[in-house]
Amino acid sequence: MRAFTYERVTDARAATAAVSRPGATFISGGTNLLDLMKLEIEQPSHLVDISRLPLADIDELPDGGLRIGAQVTNSVAAADAGVRTRYPVLSQALLSGASGQLRNKASVGGNLLQRTRCPYFYFYDPATGCNKREPGSGCSAIDGFNRIHAILGASEACIATNPSDMAVAMVALEARIELLDAAGSPRQVAVADFYRSPGDMPHVETVLRPGEMITSVLLPPPPPGRQIYRKVRDRASYEFALISVAAVVGTEQATVSGARVAFGGVAHRPWRSIEAEAALVGRPATMATYQVAAEAALLAAVGRGHNDFKIELARRTLCRTLAQATGVD
Ligand code: SF4
Repeated sequence: MRAFTYERVTDARAATAAVSRPGATFISGGTNLLDLMKLEIEQPSHLVDISRLPLADIDELPDGGLRIGAQVTNSVAAADAGVRTRYPVLSQALLSGASGQLRNKASVGGNLLQRTRCPYFYFYDPATGCNKREPGSGCSAIDGFNRIHAILGASEACIATNPSDMAVAMVALEARIELLDAAGSPRQVAVADFYRSPGDMPHVETVLRPGEMITSVLLPPPPPGRQIYRKVRDRASYEFALISVAAVVGTEQATVSGARVAFGGVAHRPWRSIEAEAALVGRPATMATYQVAAEAALLAAVGRGHNDFKIELARRTLCRTLAQATGVD
């Protein structure tokens, strides 16, 4: 690990000013950043600790939604009564991530910014390259061991996946992120628009501008319907998703009246499936409908060899999740 200096700030404006210093970066829970620093993937010369900012509250909004401060820990967000009762898909997604100790430390803002788990990114070999580590160096995963990699929305430059469970649920809930820039100006970005597709610049992962800080996440009033988060992984805990599905499904008289579907583990970003939603709404709430929706959702999927199984796994996971949400066997 490279040497660095450290300061703790207690004011959001002071934080954005401090991070404008060359080589500075924010740290909160540090559950991903410290690993990245140990491996010298991230080499900040100055850490601005924002974990004590007054952004650790969960507040009711006048429209019936919730504001979750960026410094709320994953454990607190998952256990919050408002989140558990009105946004169970989010609580389930949070509880499926990492371990109890990590969730106690990891912040909501940090969760949104965690980086891919592609092993070639963490254990870089200049001989085969990683465009996310060294732009233009190539992608070791495309012809390498790509079992965990993307099946949707990838590019020839990068086939990495986004590791967050929480963000998948937030996309299904149409959550928005509140940001504050170095000049003190706020802006909002939908979680669905926060992440970039890899294209030919996979090292640029979000639309976050230099010096900008996540201050909170806004959840709109919960959409009607039952909410389910289902995660398929290699072991039952402390493991990233091979495939996950966040679904919100409403039914009226055995017909699907509303549907939100987002996948995790399939792309460089949480993947909302408008195709699946269109194939569901207005159709009978049956397994036959769910299979048609799953086909539509995965129509553009591309396997790279080791990860071919994820296409069928994603179809089956979606069908199972929809069946659970609507009580269909
Ligand atoms: Fe790097 Fe992306 Fe290729 Fe992994 S998939 S080696 S992160 S460029």
